[in-house]
Amino acid sequence: MSVIQIQNLTKYYGKTLALDSVDLEVEQGEVFGFIGPNGAGKTTTLRILLGLLRKNAGKVSVLGGDPWRDAVALHRRLAYVPGDVNLWPSLSGGEVIDLLARLRGGFDQSRRDELVKRFALDPTRQCRTYSKGNRQKVALIAALASDVELFILDEPTSGLDPLMEATFRECVAEIKRAGKTVLLSSHILAEVEALCDRISIIKEGKIVETGTLTELRHLTRTSVSVKTRRQITGLSTFQGVHNLTVDGASTRFSVDADAINPVMQYLTKFDVMALTSTLPTLEDLFLRHYELQTGESAQ
Ligand code: ATP
Repeated sequence: MSVIQIQNLTKYYGKTLALDSVDLEVEQGEVFGFIGPNGAGKTTTLRILLGLLRKNAGKVSVLGGDPWRDAVALHRRLAYVPGDVNLWPSLSGGEVIDLLARLRGGFDQSRRDELVKRFALDPTRQCRTYSKGNRQKVALIAALASDVELFILDEPTSGLDPLMEATFRECVAEIKRAGKTVLLSSHILAEVEALCDRISIIKEGKIVETGTLTELRHLTRTSVSVKTRRQITGLSTFQGVHNLTVDGASTRFSVDADAINPVMQYLTKFDVMALTSTLPTLEDLFLRHYELQTGESAQ
């Protein structure tokens, strides 16, 4: 079942086209990554899903409802964490957590206390005294302690230190195990890579790729380093082989996903002694895509 369905979503700010026919579908129980460069349209998409912004055209459904019309009912069933959290300055962190969490459907007190400990937050301090990272923790704890079906997280770990970022990852894994759905926008590609079942890449208001990491890896190249007993010849004529360097027994190259099989078979003719291959990371993929989009050819 789809928890979020977006079809042909278009949004203008004045004359600026921020979203250009965006399609996105998030299934129940998945952690879905939403990545793209600054200004690509991630926050705009999420704000439309939250009913905070009005679309110009297209269809949007969240938990079966219309986020603009059914905002009150939907906000009891979802939790949102923005990248830049503003809190009531004179309330304590604990008071804000309770306030935010009560606005939503259910709220688990023991889970809340456990999260305060795990995120090492002092909930007695006034919000005006919190650093950015601590404000972020307040919003995260309030969201994670809520008994909701959908979590919409817009760069939720900006400002968190690496230890807390690891805690965040554990919490998302727990949510997923509980069958909840997460839409996560992040610039931290390692975080997306570690957590997300599927990913969409948005660029200049358009979705440019969607798929699992494995599917997206097919779009890019594997780096291979091989040592052979006899010097390799003839590899440069293969389709899909790039950046070839042969140095006696050592050869390095990168290879397109669909050329791996014939290339590996060819290598065996030269008596392979050692071989290492490195899978492309999401970062390689993202950067390659970004370079292609800006008109340079990716190597
Ligand atoms: P970032 O990663 O920097 O947060 P983003 O992917 O979330 O970026 P958006 O904030 O959705 O991007 O912005 C998409 C486009 O819409 C950008 O060109 C931005 O300049 C423009 N934009 C966003 N908000 C407004 C606004 N209130 N008025 C006018 N233009 C806006």
